[in-house]
Amino acid sequence: MSMRVGIGWDSHAFKPGVPLRIGGLSINHPEGLAGHSDGDVLLHAITDALLGAVSAGDIGSFFPPNDPRWKDADSSIFLNLAIEEIQNAGYHIVNVDTTLVLSAPKIAPIANEMRERIADMLDVEPDAVGIKAKTPEGLNLDHVVQAHVVVLLEKSDPGGDLKTLAAEIDDPAAVEQVVKSLVGDVGLSTERRKIIPSFDTEDIT
Ligand code: MG
Repeated sequence: MSMRVGIGWDSHAFKPGVPLRIGGLSINHPEGLAGHSDGDVLLHAITDALLGAVSAGDIGSFFPPNDPRWKDADSSIFLNLAIEEIQNAGYHIVNVDTTLVLSAPKIAPIANEMRERIADMLDVEPDAVGIKAKTPEGLNLDHVVQAHVVVLLEKSDPGGDLKTLAAEIDDPAAVEQVVKSLVGDVGLSTERRKIIPSFDTEDIT
């Protein structure tokens, strides 16, 4: 079983007059985060962690901040590209763990909603997403939000469905059930069912 880890980090400063977006949520707060895109610091860090896990560069190499196409862009665009990259490399997400560092707003009341939103975007179960938040004690960084992210990926098994089918074919009763569901009861003899070969999916190219 092949596994990969990826790490992501990002920071954005608060800026008056823009909406606050963190983890794909619009959060009611007097200030938002400065950035060329929507400034979603957490989605940027997850994007970098995914790209890093498959050695595919970083968010800036795909979406240069001087490209006008990404002005005020929804950061889910960046995340979706990273998901495509890991799928193209043959991996899927096992779990994602995150830590936000910010003085305000408090994340705890919306952590569950944020977890479900991110799980939905990543197409994983909510229990595969960790959302944690810390205040920047002693760092004098009350004007900044930082996001730290770790992801674990696992090599996908493209033969998984075929192996399940092969296991069913080894079971004559299951074969009969499948045949009946397709063509009805055509009176296949037990002898004929027995000669249906199993196959090794590892040989399929
Ligand atoms: Mg960023």
